[in-house]
This record gives sequence, C-alpha cells and structure tokens, in this order.
Amino acid sequence: MDKDTSVLELKGVGEKTRKLFEKLDIRTLGDLLDHMPRDYEIYGDPVKIAQAAPGTVCAVYAAVTGIPGERRVRSLHILNVTVSDGSGSLQLTFFNMPFLKKVLKQGGYYLFRGTVQSRGSTKFMEQPKLFAYEEYRKQTNRLIPKYALTKGLTNQAVQKAVRQALSACAPEEEYYDRELLDSCSLIPRREAEECIHFPPDRDSLLQARRRLVFDEFFSFLYLLRRNRQMEEGLENRWQMFETADTVRFLEQLPFPLTKAQARVWQEIRDDMGSHACMNRLVQGDVGSGKTILALLALLMTAANGYQGALMAPTEVLAMQHFETVQDYVKRFGACFRPVLLVGSMTAKEKREACGMIASGEANLIIGTHALIQERVQYRSLALVVTDEQHRFGVRQRELLAGKGDCPHILVMSATPIPRTLAIILYGDLHISVVDELPQGRLPIKNCVVNTSYRPTAYKFIAGQVAEGRQAYVICPQVEEGEMDGLENVADYAEKLKGALPAGVQVACLHGKMRPADKNRIMEEFSAHSIDVLVSTTVIEVGINVPNATVMMVENAERFGLAQLHQLRGRVGRGEHQSYCIFVSTREDKETMERLQILNRSNDGFYIASEDLRLRGPGELFGVRQSGEFSFRMGDIYTDAAVLKLASDAIDRLLARDPDLELPEHQALRRHLAENAADTVDFRSI
Ligand code: ADP
Ligand code: MG
Repeated sequence: MDKDTSVLELKGVGEKTRKLFEKLDIRTLGDLLDHMPRDYEIYGDPVKIAQAAPGTVCAVYAAVTGIPGERRVRSLHILNVTVSDGSGSLQLTFFNMPFLKKVLKQGGYYLFRGTVQSRGSTKFMEQPKLFAYEEYRKQTNRLIPKYALTKGLTNQAVQKAVRQALSACAPEEEYYDRELLDSCSLIPRREAEECIHFPPDRDSLLQARRRLVFDEFFSFLYLLRRNRQMEEGLENRWQMFETADTVRFLEQLPFPLTKAQARVWQEIRDDMGSHACMNRLVQGDVGSGKTILALLALLMTAANGYQGALMAPTEVLAMQHFETVQDYVKRFGACFRPVLLVGSMTAKEKREACGMIASGEANLIIGTHALIQERVQYRSLALVVTDEQHRFGVRQRELLAGKGDCPHILVMSATPIPRTLAIILYGDLHISVVDELPQGRLPIKNCVVNTSYRPTAYKFIAGQVAEGRQAYVICPQVEEGEMDGLENVADYAEKLKGALPAGVQVACLHGKMRPADKNRIMEEFSAHSIDVLVSTTVIEVGINVPNATVMMVENAERFGLAQLHQLRGRVGRGEHQSYCIFVSTREDKETMERLQILNRSNDGFYIASEDLRLRGPGELFGVRQSGEFSFRMGDIYTDAAVLKLASDAIDRLLARDPDLELPEHQALRRHLAENAADTVDFRSI
C-alpha cells in the first residue's frame, strides 16, 4: 500500500464509508494523511455542577431528576431534562434528538459534556454529548484530534482509518537538507505527520504543526520568488493613454474620489502608460471603494481598444460586479461591452460568451475561475483584475496571465496585512494603499456579548426588519456534526424562524449549496425578498447590500479578528446606521480581550496588527484566519514568525543554488515538482 492506494483497501472501510470519505475529498491513503485535525480536545476530569464555570466546556456526572419535557417549535423538536449531582442542578436542552427521551431514565446517572451557560442563578447546557462513565474515563486527559466530518462518519472512524494509513504508507524521503533542518529547528516530515494526528503531548504537537506550516509556506513562497524573477522587467506590450472616457466617467459619478482613491488611480494610470508591465496590488480596508479603481482601469483599457478581465472569487460577487457595470453603461454611456462568464451558465451561454470574447466584441469579461478553466481565447487581453485574489492562488493568476501577451495585472485585496508580512507575501507586486474611507459613513455600532443576549438580539433584528432593513447571521458550520458545540446554519435558521415574528423571511446560504442556488438566494436577498440571511462565511467576500444593517456572528471566538472585520464590512455600506453583534460562547479573559478590539476600532489595519500581537504561537488551533490567504494549516498572523523563517530560508537557498542543481537539493526539487503541482507549474524547473 502507498499514498495512492484507495481507502477501500483499509480494514473497516466498505463502499458506504468510501462514499462518505469522498464527500470530504478523501479518496486515497495520502488524502487521509492530509486530512488534518481541525482542532484537538482534551476530555478533562468530570467536575461538580457547583464548580462548573459558565462559559467553559465541562463534563459532569449527574442523575436525571425529573421526567424529560418535550416540545416542538415548527419543525424543531426540543427536549428539556434536569440533572443533579448533589452539589447543584443543571438544565439540559437537546434539539432534534427525540429518542433521548427513552434513553434518559429518571434516576439514571450519565456523563454529560458541553459548554456550561448561565441565566441568573440557573446553569444550563445545550446539546451536550452523552457518555457512559467508563467510556469517558478511557479518553480522559489525552489530546484527541477533531476531524472535519460529514453526516454518517464519526470522528472515531476517521481516527481509525488514519491510524491504519499511517502504518501502511512508507515514509516519504526527507527533502530538506541537514543545514536547513538544523538552522530552522525543524523535526523530520514523517515525525510531523504522525504527531499531528496522534500527538503524545502538547509540545510535540506544536513542533509537528510548526514543521507542516513551514512546508506549506515554503512551497508557496518558493513559487512567489520564481514568479517575481519571471515578471521582473517584463516589457509593456499594452501601452495605454488616458482618454476622455475615464475623465467623463469620473465627472458623472455621484461622488468625488477620495484623496486616496485619486492617488492610487494616478499610480495605475502611470503603470499602464509606462514601459514596464503593471503588476500592482491595491490594498484597502472594506468599503474603501476599490471597485471603482478596478473599473477605471478596465474602462481605460476598453477605451484604448483592448480587452480587460475582472475575476472574482465567487459567482455571487462576479454577478454583482456585472450588474454594477451594466448599470454604468446604462446610466453614463460607459464604453464597456461586458460579458459574464461563470461556471453555472449553460453550455450554450458559455459558448456565446466565448464567441464574443474571441471576436473582440466583448471588451470586458467578468467572471470566476471558469474564466480560465473553460479554455477561453481572448482577442487582446491587456488587463487582468483579480478581486480578493489569494483565493485564486498564484497558479491561477499565472494561468490567466499566460492567456494574453503578458497583460497588466491588478490585484484588489481587503485583507489588511501589516507591512512586514506584506513584503513577504506580496513580494512579487508593487503595493498601493487606499487608506481612507469615503466621507459621511456612519461608524458601525458594535457589541460583544454572551449567548444569554440572544433573545435581545432577535428582538433588535425584528425591529430593524420592521423598519425595512435586513440582517445577516453568521454561523461557523454548515450542518450539525462537523464540529461539536458550534452553531450550524441549518439548525440555526430553524431556531431563528421560531424566535422571529412569523412574517420575517429567513433563508440559508452556505458553501456546500449549488452555485445556482447560492446565486438565487443572494439575488433574493439583494432584491429584499429575504429579510434575514443565515450564512457561513461565504458572504464575507465583497458582497454589497447597502440595505443590510445588522451583522450578528455566532461563535465569534472561533474566527480571527481580521475575518470578523471583513464580515462586519458587509454592513454600514449605506446611509443607515448599522450594527454588529459578536456572540461569544467563551467568556474567558483572553477571548473577551481579543473580541473587545473589534469593539474599540473600525480600522482594519489596527485590528490586524493587534491580532498579530495577541495571537502567540501555540494557542491557536481552532481560530482560523480564512479570508484570502487560505493556507491549509498556516495562519499568516499566528505563524508570522514561521513565515519569516521560511522566507529567509528560501532567500538563502536561492542565493546559493538558484536552479536547485546541487546534489543535496535534488530531493527538494523532486518534492516541489510533485507536491506543488496544483499550485505551480514546475515543468520549467
Ligand atoms: P470595497 O473597497 O470594499 O471593495 P466598494 O468598492 O464595494 O468597497 O465600495 C463600497 C461602497 O462605497 C460602494 O457602494 C461604492 O459605490 C461607494 N463608494 C466608492 N467610492 C466612493 C467615494 N469616493 N465616495 C462615496 N462613496 C463611494
Ligand atoms: Mg470589493
């Protein structure tokens, strides 16, 4: 058996389990080993109810004291049980688990594990996990990996499969040379792989994670460096000049550009008219008005008789950009002839769009990565703008660039990155910063609260809806069971329907929906036939619905600050006062201190630098910084030091052996060629 062997070969994995694994994109033993735990959990010793501190996860061993009470709210089944252990009593609530009524016998002792919450002097737990005492004891005080799951697949089943895969696969050769391993204090790759799944203790786990994160950054940065070498000094094949079109467009806009926008627009114009090809990043906080800059550059391209492309990370965002452009054509007579190209279009629609692109009839192409995947032929692609680019990966950017004769590249990013990191991560780009918000925006009002605030929040949302506004509620997961104790979109939406007045339209949105359904829901929300949207973070990128005034984030403690700031950027985009409610299920000092930063400031750069300061290495399984830099494990904030280390290591390596020709670098060369295949084209090495 090796890494390419199908999971079917494992003991205990039949056709049914194979299908479940496939849902998680796990087909081979190698995929299984790459399926990293999302978190680790320690089952602590059980505590007395009187000692169980609200806001913490506890296990209590207690007896059922009354007859379980049942009720229904629409399609939701709710079971209430009171348990007691002599020191105090605890209310338990289970959702959609009617069978527990028969399991939980009056007088029977069980072990319940969950987050303790309190309302007045009453302590309660929602949806605790249930164990037999012996079963729980066996797992106490060990680091238990928590995997991303799917309905029907238990954490234990994944653990078992991973254990088998580890012993079946021969270790890959170590690809770093001794010097690199020593100078960066890295443990061997194989040890890291074993230890990340089955950590003997916390220190080993941190070492393992450090090695894997280093590897991830190393491949990424290596690719960036090579890109930079390639792109440096590329001649400008598409020299352009400003025409009356952009000047007139600016005059027609209902608002003047901010000083920062005007400065960046000047930088872009200079680039496109110069002798070298543009390779520029425009960085600006959410709502700073980057779209206009992209459109100005695209308009200048069209006016010069060339084609431009605008790539968005989601179909929803692409369609929104398309509508904005159509509106400008209608209102201002802008010289755009736009086409949309997204994955969910029919084959015929795509063919038509491609025809218009190939003939040059279309001079602005707006879409998602379908743009590059669908073998599009451009007639004169002179500018590529990518919005929120790092979702695309450098490889895709490169592919698209390869379609034209080295088009100008303009990258828009709302991820506020401290300068030290930007130099490393955007090493291949020139940077412009839009460091000013348009005037007259009302600052968003924020609050950080615990779960007992929910009823008040729902009343507030109902009030806003009654005034004609809309709201978002964000949950960390799509459906029940991916991770314990986190709110999920599906169940939450049901709960919320029960809590809001009957006429309020509530809908769900998440990444696992089909693109066409996502688009439809987003359009309905834009058109205001939906009042409250319960969503995962898929809405975090770029969406513009100015009528939405409330952003409520559940399990806020699970998100990075920069990501929460992005989410907040979805409101406060219009004339109405907007509000952000961050609900934390944890109330420990560090969590509260971290979330309070959002309360204090609306400045993305300040927030990012505070995030960086507060997040020391080690503490950070669980709080994911998704956003544009979606590394699998690494987090540019938490792992900033490792990022720097990898960056320095590459500089040293390339200074000594730019083409990886030395014998001691052959293993690395092979590794990069094989493993970075989906992020970079290494055929040229
Ligand atoms: P982001 O930088 O987050 O992509 P957008 O480009 O979507 O922000 O702009 C947010 C909102 O601000 C849009 O509704 C846009 O029309 C508006 N806007 C952009 N520039 C200005 C400006 N100079 N003055 C007033 N409003 C502006
Ligand atoms: Mg934007």
